[in-house]
Amino acid sequence: MTAEELSSVNERYEALEASIRTYNPNADFDKIRRAFAYARDKHIHQHRKDGSPYITHPLAVAQVVSDMHLDSESIMAALLHDCIEDTDATHEEIAKLFSPAVAELVEGVTKLTRVQYVSKEEEQMENLRKMLLAMSQDVRVMIIKLCDRLHNMRTGDAWPEQKRRDKALETMEVYAPIAHRLGISNIKEELEDRSLQYLDPVGYNMIRSLLNKHGDDFLNDICATIQEHLEQNGIHGATIRHRVKSIYGIYRKMYMQNKDFEEIYDIYAVRIILENVSECYNALGLIHDMYHPLPNRFKDYISTPKPNGYQSLHTTVIGHEGIPF
Ligand code: MN
Repeated sequence: MTAEELSSVNERYEALEASIRTYNPNADFDKIRRAFAYARDKHIHQHRKDGSPYITHPLAVAQVVSDMHLDSESIMAALLHDCIEDTDATHEEIAKLFSPAVAELVEGVTKLTRVQYVSKEEEQMENLRKMLLAMSQDVRVMIIKLCDRLHNMRTGDAWPEQKRRDKALETMEVYAPIAHRLGISNIKEELEDRSLQYLDPVGYNMIRSLLNKHGDDFLNDICATIQEHLEQNGIHGATIRHRVKSIYGIYRKMYMQNKDFEEIYDIYAVRIILENVSECYNALGLIHDMYHPLPNRFKDYISTPKPNGYQSLHTTVIGHEGIPF
């Protein structure tokens, strides 16, 4: 590493520590800093495909782990996750320097890394068995592995074409479904979108450019308008959130249900969380008064909950620019 690279790497570590401090001020910063220094020195002569120092990868993985507000052991394991696989570090040494639990996590991630992806069905079962086993011992192993895969997919442009496709297929078939089952939807969606970008770049870019036309401003304006209107009508303290459907989510609907972009009504969505059931129905009336509702798009999951207990009201309305949400 050049002196310049070293100072940039150390700076990134400081940023990581600052973000851990926001949700866990009592984290074991002494040990975390030592785990960083240890991994940095072990990987010192290694570089990534794009030429950056290797330690930038474990640092980025630890950053994703920290964004999920995981504990000190998980952060340390994320920093150390490639040490057993790619350097002369051993399980025993990591156990002694940090803790047996951290060493177990690193070992678990290493075992998952060694599972070779195959598309043959019988062998896929065997791989799945290994993954479930790793997960059942400590679910943090799988979460760290998902963060590892996410960062690799984020930086996959440096891979040759064939490797991009192989990794994308494996991500789509193995890792995104696991993220989904674990309820980590933001990671699941990013894994799918980045996989799609490599598997069907034309389809991916087409949807992305259609989304960019409207942008996030559209939803921000709607949320502000709704908030104001609810307040004026005596509904206070509503929590309003919004989301744009993921590119892969749109892609799947377009290709599997053979629809045009304009025929997908839930690309933009607003969720209003209220205090009680009567406020929900009142808010629905107000929304239908503000925006034109589309016929046959209303679902009352309050009176008829979904089998898993989910209760809410769904409707599709047309925004002022003619865009449904
Ligand atoms: Mn890695």
